[in-house]
Amino acid sequence: MKKAIYAGSFDPLTLGHLDIIERAAKLFDCLVVAVLENPNKQSLFSVEERKCHLEMATARLENVEVASFKGLLAEFAREIGATVAVRGLRNAVDFAAEYQMYLINRKLGQEIETVFLAADEEHLSLSSTNVKEVAVFGGNIDFMVPQEIKPFILEKYQK
Ligand code: ADP
Repeated sequence: MKKAIYAGSFDPLTLGHLDIIERAAKLFDCLVVAVLENPNKQSLFSVEERKCHLEMATARLENVEVASFKGLLAEFAREIGATVAVRGLRNAVDFAAEYQMYLINRKLGQEIETVFLAADEEHLSLSSTNVKEVAVFGGNIDFMVPQEIKPFILEKYQK
């Protein structure tokens, strides 16, 4: 069974992330979407909230599981038996960062192969940061996030 992992902050989950999840789920028998717990990074949503959003948005995808992890991706991948790490690429900036990470991951876990999926044209300018920047001023985020996540984002900024 080919198991892949797609890791990220997903703070919040965007339609760009979801597109990568849907496409990766078609390529592998099982896709584990893993929220990276990073205590040094201030986040809008807790890890539990982010996992819950991912579970809602991927409920219809039978071979997708949601998890969270601390520490190194290569180690977590080994622990769960994933042999492929999926990453999304929007532009040259992503490529430079992702390629560095790929080289490090290779050194840390030789058995893990990285697969890059090119972002859909519609999602090229989408990032979790952009979502927060628009939401904080009450802008329309319909085209940025899955519909089921939207109320949770709006709630955060109404407080
Ligand atoms: P991080 O916070 O570690 O940058 P993200 O959760 O933003 O992680 O992203 C996780 C992965 O999803 C990365 O590979 C990133 O390049 C990719 N990604 C982020 N936004 C998009 C998008 N709009 N389209 C495609 N891939 C994306």
